[in-house]
Amino acid sequence: MINDYPQVLTIAGTDSGGGAGIPADVKTMQMRGVYAAMVVVAVTAQNTLGVQDAMPVPEKLIDEQFASIANDLKIRACKTGMLADPLRVRTVVRNLKKYNFGPLIVDPVMVAKGGAKLLSDDAITIVRDELLPLASLITPNIPEACELTGMTIKDKNDIKSVAKELQKLGAKNVLLKGGHAQNKDHADDYVLFEDGNDLWLTAPRINTKNTHGTGDTISACITAEIAKGHSMEQAIMIGKTYVEKTIQKGINVGHGHGPLNHWV
Ligand code: PLP
Repeated sequence: MINDYPQVLTIAGTDSGGGAGIPADVKTMQMRGVYAAMVVVAVTAQNTLGVQDAMPVPEKLIDEQFASIANDLKIRACKTGMLADPLRVRTVVRNLKKYNFGPLIVDPVMVAKGGAKLLSDDAITIVRDELLPLASLITPNIPEACELTGMTIKDKNDIKSVAKELQKLGAKNVLLKGGHAQNKDHADDYVLFEDGNDLWLTAPRINTKNTHGTGDTISACITAEIAKGHSMEQAIMIGKTYVEKTIQKGINVGHGHGPLNHWV
């Protein structure tokens, strides 16, 4: 019976400040009622002001974490976050092919808000060529989507073209997050589904500095909802609503971009 409790996995980096990366994923997954396991790919020294240092985990230890989880838990869905460099991306891809952890949500994390690189430049093509084809859903923001496709985004038509290109590169579904767009009133996300249907998710922009970990939170929520049996569309809608609430209730801790409040 115990194996029937929905179990999910996050494959990502830590945040010593507790606001983004694996801590944000695990808090989100817990709040959404699933059990969270984790593969730590990189460790960061980080707080609300930025990333002070980061160190990838040795390949062997990443393999061992995957094996430990696969030998014991029954993972229904998983997500990736910070993957650091080419070796770590390849190690994660190899393990995802080896084990069946259900639908994969790829959050192609590249740069933290403070400007720190969480994925090296030479790893971007490996994410594109080797990880994207495994993805049930990819959740890039605008700069990440442009990096992956080599395209530029100036308007809504460009957003649609870029999403289509990401699908051509192998991601089944695309959630292109518009939070980085110039529009000051709205944060519009575009969703392109596997069957070609699409939709815009429009939400008023929330004026706050406490936005640390938003990308992690929406992708972790979607992963949890998929594991609970929701469709991709339902999971994305729930994710969007959940992240909005967590931003609205953002917590004033630290001196920089404070974390979200996952307790909503
Ligand atoms: N640190 C880690 C380990 C992350 O995975 C992420 C985002 O995915 C961040 C930092 C970036 O957080 P933000 O850009 O929301 O401040």
